[in-house]
Amino acid sequence: MSECIFCRIARGEIPSKKVYEDEEIFAFHDINPIAPVHFMIVPKLHIASLMEADMSHQMLLGRMLAKTNDLARSQGLTEGFRTIINTGRIGHQEVYHLHIHILGGPEPLGSMLKRKTP
Ligand code: 5GP
Ligand code: ZN
Repeated sequence: MSECIFCRIARGEIPSKKVYEDEEIFAFHDINPIAPVHFMIVPKLHIASLMEADMSHQMLLGRMLAKTNDLARSQGLTEGFRTIINTGRIGHQEVYHLHIHILGGPEPLGSMLKRKTP
């Protein structure tokens, strides 16, 4: 059995604030939220990152993305939200089990990345 933390959360071995679950995906609130609403969608299948994904995963990845609207609305995000997938070292990925962050709240989130001043 995988020791991966998100695999263990998706199997219910580590408690989380669950948002949604079906046979292929699991959604739960981030333990350290950076917005008023901050949860993640993960595949139950262990895929370390987008750098390990390929066309064999297209149905699963499509399912995750297609579910964001419904799940965001279920958390009160009716006026928009931000999705983030951090990938690899350059993308500052911390947990190596592919996940889509969904972020939102009552106020606009601001720009995506801070511009570096020259
Ligand atoms: P990354 O930087 O890999 O895109 O994001 C990983 C996210 O997972 C972080 O926002 C972090 O707060 C969250 N996280 C790490 N460990 C746990 C955990 O045990 N439970 C939950 N719910 N979130 C976690
Ligand atoms: Zn995993």
